Amino acid sequence: MPEEPCQCPDCQRFYREHDRLIRECPTLRHQQELNWAALQSFRTLAGRVLEDLQKQYGTRGDDADASSTQATPVGGGEEPADDIQQSIADLENINAHLFSIEALMERIFDVRVPEEIEQKFREFAGELAPDPLNADRLRLNRLLHQTPDLPDRN
Ligand SMILES: [Zn+2]
Repeated sequence: MPEEPCQCPDCQRFYREHDRLIRECPTLRHQQELNWAALQSFRTLAGRVLEDLQKQYGTRGDDADASSTQATPVGGGEEPADDIQQSIADLENINAHLFSIEALMERIFDVRVPEEIEQKFREFAGELAPDPLNADRLRLNRLLHQTPDLPDRN
């Protein structure tokens, strides 16, 4: 890359997270499990919130088009504000997309590779995302930046 990567706080947080996920999931198998769990947790949580909103404000499903006058909420009968209505529509879209992604991802989760290939994954993982707490790396960072590269401890 010709340009220096952006160093704003958001990007730095992304780089750290990106590298952490490589370090902590350094094999094909680990990455498959990680991504599957991330996808499923996203679906579970977003789906649950959507379900709750629909219960509270009613669904504006396909049959809502039939009643052109006004939507009739199934639940409490509250008229949802525009931003709530928009959020429900957004979450419905997200859930539909997550469902499609799941169907696509299933195809890459069946793959198994021999141990020697997994070993190659581990090697590159160590190369791409070396442990920031590693003593050699801390010393190197200090030399390069003149300031200690203190890692985030949450
Ligand atoms: Zn940035």
